[in-house]
Amino acid sequence: MSLTIRKAIVLGLIGSILLLGNILLVANWLVERGVVDWARHLRAEYLTGTAITIIVVLLILLVSPKAGALVRRCPVCDHVLLSRGKYCGECGSKV
Ligand SMILES: [Zn+2]
Repeated sequence: MSLTIRKAIVLGLIGSILLLGNILLVANWLVERGVVDWARHLRAEYLTGTAITIIVVLLILLVSPKAGALVRRCPVCDHVLLSRGKYCGECGSKV
């Protein structure tokens, strides 16, 4: 973790604490600005249950299959690797 990231985390924490302390003020300001009504309109118009389901499914499908794969497969013959060994039991190539 680099120093810049740490600084950003600390600044973000301070910012969110200040925001939380004044949350009613911020909420009232947003209502006055019409942001809340606009967001409500957006939610009613575009964020229906179907749309949320589609977005979630797309996010799951877009995740790289290698990162969340439960089964390991041989890169050469695509045989499912049952053991934790370094070599494929089917074709003998290194995994
Ligand atoms: Zn193989």
